[in-house]
Amino acid sequence: MNFASNAAFDLAEQRIEEEREAAIAKSRAALKASGTTDCVDCGSTISIARRRVYPSATRCLECQEFVEKEARCR
Ligand SMILES: [Zn+2]
Repeated sequence: MNFASNAAFDLAEQRIEEEREAAIAKSRAALKASGTTDCVDCGSTISIARRRVYPSATRCLECQEFVEKEARCR
């Protein structure tokens, strides 16, 4: 990888980066509409795999298991 910069190249790179950010923001918004992307308990990101299975999940797998275990003990 050559890090020597070239203004036009940097501009193109920045555009790509901005478009990527916009796409990410859009998909984040879509995910938020159906639930949350971050665990409400520990704040870590809920995996896409988990969100596909449980679109309304508000906790990561670890926290959800903990909550379920707690519930079972009561
Ligand atoms: Zn969590």
